[in-house]
Parts: sequence; structure tokens; C-alpha cells
Amino acid sequence: MKHIQCKMFGHDYEITRHVTHYVKEYTCKTCRKELTTNGNGTLTELTPKFKEINDVLERIHKKKHRIRLKGRPVNPELLVFSH
Ligand SMILES: [Zn+2]
Repeated sequence: MKHIQCKMFGHDYEITRHVTHYVKEYTCKTCRKELTTNGNGTLTELTPKFKEINDVLERIHKKKHRIRLKGRPVNPELLVFSH
């Protein structure tokens, strides 16, 4: 039984998804139990509800990142003195 190993030695988690810089999803290599970081920064079981929350977080995070990269080359001083 794989679960006995987890009970005796603890779960062997690996990061399976980077949602944001501080929210990640983990899966136990032995029993495939899934965890995620919740809003308090602690680990909790990855329920369908948390999966949904993480999907939204990931979308927001990626969008923010893209806008920041696009906006960087614009120098406001050039706009002021262009005329
Ligand atoms: Zn496990």
C-alpha cells in the first residue's frame, strides 16, 4: 500500500503548477494527493473550489504581467517634450 508510506514518512510533494509567485499547487509523488497554497499562505487540500480560485488567480496574474512588460518602454518625459 502506497498510502502507508505516506503515513509513516509523510507525503513527498513536488510542485506541479505555479499559479502566482506565492500560490503553487503540489502533488504527492507517492499517493497523488494534491495541495495548494491558500490566501493565508498555508497549505490546504486542493479541492475543486480551490482549483477554480487558482484558475482565476493565474489568469489575473498573467494579464498583469503582460501589461507591465508592454508598458515598460514608454517614457513619460518623451511624451511631454515631443512637441
Ligand atoms: Zn502521499
